[in-house]
This record gives sequence, C-alpha cells and structure tokens, in this order.
Amino acid sequence: MSVLPKYEGERVYRQVKARKTSNWDVIVVGSGMGGMCCAAALAHYGKKVLILERHYIPGGFTHMFQRGKFSWDVGVHALGEMDNRHKVGQMLNWLSNNKIKMKSLGSPYDQFFWPGFDIGFPDSREKFNKVLKEKFPDEVDKIDEYFVFAKKVAKSTEFWFAMKSMPELIGKWGRRLYHLFNKNYWELTTKVVMDEMGLSPKLQTVLCAQWGYYGSIPQESSFAIHALTQTHFWGGAYYPEGGAKEIAGSLLKVVEDAGGETLCGADVHEIIVENGKAKGVRLTTGEEFFAKKIVSGAPAKTTMSKLLPEKYRKTEWSKSIMELKNSPPYICLHMGFEGDIKKAGASSTNWWFNNRWEVDNDFVWNIKEKDAEADILYVSFPSLKDPQHVPSENNYHTGECVTFIPYDEFEQWNETNRTNRPEEYKKYKQEIEDRLIAQLKKHMPEVMKHLTFCEMSTPLTAEHFCGAIQGAIYGLASEPKRFNNEKLRPRTPIRNFYLTGIDSMSIGVAGAMTSGMMTAAAIDPRVYTKIV
Ligand SMILES: Cc1cc2nc3c(=O)[nH]c(=O)nc-3n(C[C@H](O)[C@H](O)[C@H](O)COP(=O)(O)OP(=O)(O)OC[C@H]3O[C@@H](n4cnc5c(N)ncnc54)[C@H](O)[C@@H]3O)c2cc1C
Repeated sequence: MSVLPKYEGERVYRQVKARKTSNWDVIVVGSGMGGMCCAAALAHYGKKVLILERHYIPGGFTHMFQRGKFSWDVGVHALGEMDNRHKVGQMLNWLSNNKIKMKSLGSPYDQFFWPGFDIGFPDSREKFNKVLKEKFPDEVDKIDEYFVFAKKVAKSTEFWFAMKSMPELIGKWGRRLYHLFNKNYWELTTKVVMDEMGLSPKLQTVLCAQWGYYGSIPQESSFAIHALTQTHFWGGAYYPEGGAKEIAGSLLKVVEDAGGETLCGADVHEIIVENGKAKGVRLTTGEEFFAKKIVSGAPAKTTMSKLLPEKYRKTEWSKSIMELKNSPPYICLHMGFEGDIKKAGASSTNWWFNNRWEVDNDFVWNIKEKDAEADILYVSFPSLKDPQHVPSENNYHTGECVTFIPYDEFEQWNETNRTNRPEEYKKYKQEIEDRLIAQLKKHMPEVMKHLTFCEMSTPLTAEHFCGAIQGAIYGLASEPKRFNNEKLRPRTPIRNFYLTGIDSMSIGVAGAMTSGMMTAAAIDPRVYTKIV
C-alpha cells in the first residue's frame, strides 16, 4: 500500500522543481489541514491557489509514512463530528466533494484505565451519560448538570469563532459586548469551573480523561476548549477510510482542478512584504513566487519569528504571540505487529493507560529518572480502524503509542542532521524505546507478543518533518491566555496577509479545518455561506 496522497491513483502534488503552473490568486504556506482546507475552500470559488510545503509529502500532521509492510498516520487517531449531522462533517464533505469516507470507531471509541478503575466512552451522549452515572451513582444530578452546562459552553463558542474571522476591531468589540452578558469560559480554567460545580476529584479526572486531545491539564486548560473537545466526541469518533492520506488526496485534487498546484520540498524562507502589503514568498533556494494574497499555515510562532520581515517581529502583534506557551512535546512509538492482534485484545478502540489519578504537570514523563514510567500512554491501532487495510497472509497490523516528554532532553541534538544523528542520540532513543516497550508489555502483554517492528519519533522528528516548534504536539498550549489573545486571528495587520491552522483558531483536525474555512472566508466572503 502506498502512503502518498493520491486521487484515483494519480498524485495530487509534485516536487517544487517540477512545477507546472504560474499566476496564482493565493499562495498558502504549509499543507497542513488548515492550509489544505483554506486552499480547497478558495478553489471551490474558482481561485487558483499555490500551496508550498517544505516536507516532500503534503498533509502536515495528516500525512502518513511507511516502513516495509507497515504504515502509520502522524496525527490522526480519532476525529469527532465527521458525519453529515454535524457542521464539521458537512464542511469536510463540501471541501472534498464527498470523497473522504469516515469509518466509526464503534463503541467505546476510547477506553481509559487507572489503577483499579476503567471506563469506556461510548458513541452517544445518552450512553456516555448512563455509563458515568453507573460509575458515579452519588453524583447523578451533578452529571446531568455538567452535561447541560458543557453543551451550553460549547455552543457559546460559535460566537467566539465568528468574531475571530472578523476584522480585529469588530471582533474585539463584538466579544467585549458579548461578554458583558455572558461569562467568558475561555478565560476560566477547567479545574476552576469543575470545582465551582462541586464535582468530586475522581469524577473530574474521569471527565477530563481526554485532556491529552488538547494537551493542557485541567489546572491550565481553558474550560471552553475542554467543553468543545468533550462534546465534539459525544457522537463517537471516526477514522478516514484508507488512512489520513485520503484527506490530502481529496483536498489537493480540488485545488488542482481549479488550476492551482501543491509543491513539496518548498521551504519558505520569507514572506515578501512591500509598503505594508504582502506580495509573495521567497524559498530558502531564493526562488520567488507572487500572488494577490498570502496565507501562512505554518505554526504562528514560526511565521512571526522566521517568515516575516524583521520589522514585524518587534510589533505588539508578534510579541503577544511569541510569549504564548507551547503545548507539550511528545514521542510516538510506531509499532508493527504480525499475527492476530484482535484475538490478543486489540480493536479500533483507543486505550489510555493512566498510572495515577492526579492530573498535574508531572504528567510529562520524567525520563531523567531511570525507573520512572510514563504516567499516561495513549495507544491506537490504525490498521484495525481502517476497513481498507489488507493485512496479507502474515496478518500485518500497526499500533501507535504516544506520551509527553520534555524537550530539553533532546535540545542538544536539534542542530544535527536527521539522517546522521550522533550515536549518543540513537542510544538515548533506544533506551527510551526499551522502557516504553517494557511498560506496554505490562499493560497489553498479549498484543505485545506480536510486536515485530518498532520505530520511535521524538520531538526532533516532529520538528523536522512537520515544523512543530520544539516538537509541540498541538502548537500553542490550550490555555486562557492563548484563546483570549485578540491578535491571533486569520486577518493580520499586514495587508493581503493571513494566518491559518490550529494556532490561529482552535485545535485538532476539526479545529484546523475550521481555521482554513475562516481564513478562506476572510479572503472570499462567499465561503461564509458554507460555515453558517
Ligand atoms: C501525535 C498526534 C496525534 C494527533 N491525533 C489527533 C487526533 O486523533 N484527532 C485530531 O483531531 N487531531 C489530532 N492531532 C492534531 C492534529 O493532527 C493537528 O493539530 C492538525 O492536523 C494541525 O493542522 P495545521 O494545519 O494547523 O498544522 P500542521 O499539520 O502542523 O501543518 C503545518 C504545515 O506547514 C508546513 N510548514 C511549516 N513551515 C513551513 C515553511 N517555512 N515552508 C513551507 N511549509 C512549512 C509544515 O511542514 C506543515 O506541513 C494529533 C497530533 C499529533 C502530533
């Protein structure tokens, strides 16, 4: 199986030297979900869009890679609201011309384990409510109250999204007016809100069990992002049939059909700005490309600190973004199995192994301590989620295990070449890999008996392939300061220059897609008709 994004067997991108088109309406830097959705939305309205991607495969965190018979996604495990009943699913269908087919992970889609306790999150709000009440019979009323409240807060974020895509002044005053009458749940942390509701510590931990999907612990995460993420999964979770590469395969075809193009191996060095107007981009090779509008889908801090001309880096706009915290760095163990892992207990359900109940900053794996285990492990089996996966006679399957890890352990090697990292790095990586495997053998001994291959990605890998700053899992941290930053928005102080991607809006594949739509709408207001 090929992991390259294709449409009906044809590649939908080429390397920069082989470019075919010239004259574009819009240039998008970066082919992540945000950049691709922005480009596809504009292409639907006849715009010729050029996407420039530094990696040799498009897709950003939605790209896939392969080792022999095994293939993995980088950043797609569970997607919420992907059916046609939800706006997110409707937008993706429109963007891709209904070409991306989603498969439900079934029920439960996530299974959580703590010492002496486990719970599965089922694929409907009603079932989830029931399961929680069975586990917490003393808090039945509180659970109902929480459900109504979480939904209300998630719904209220629609106004926040709308204001984000408006010009800054309208957005700023619109929000202020709105919050005169409505509490700002972006501003309050999840922990503060849950304490106020009087939920027991154990119930709070269970309700926050998916914090790994937004990367900030309850003491630090914005309650609004928690409520959005939780309700996002009330209809269960989905996975793209054929794997994450199908997303780029379909979206980039839409771009191509409108006369645009996606060029890989195109490392943008600088946004060209003249007289306060963005005009084009310059690659690290010196090659220049020009268009009427320029969009950056690279991480916001990369755009501010590296891509914009020097004078913009000193502005309040840039400073307010540069001072925001990053989400935690991560490692991922990509596993290859041979044999019947289903019989050994694996399924399309994601497993979350928690070593303890307290959710605090110590959740970042203290690898310096030789005996310390990772306190949280997230395990997913992509080959069991994908109905198109052909296991062949040897029954090849894949798994991924993600946990958070400090960046400073890897910093010493960040200037070294990826294909030729020093022996100490390889040795260190091997040690971590061995510790992770030992821990996984305790949690899922039968599945691990089938392990025949593994390769670990570190924060340096995410930095190299996806441009993730310090290997951050979800860009900027999901904290109140980030969501209250009124300067983080698709429109920028530079004329004809826009931001897209998770940092400019909200997190995850759905957040990136929404950002792409909002940025496209800021450029061509007809796109709004597909959002509202
Ligand atoms: C391990 C992991 C698991 C995840 N699991 C899920 C999940 O199950 N569900 C979910 O909803 N989300 C998940 N996510 C999050 C989700 O995949 C991402 O947040 C989202 O895809 C990010 O999209 P984006 O467009 O903002 O950015 P990116 O995907 O980071 O795209 C940015 C692109 O810009 C390119 N770029 C950067 N600088 C330049 C430059 N100078 N020139 C040219 N190109 C440049 C990069 O190479 C990259 O391709 C996961 C993420 C990770 C890391």
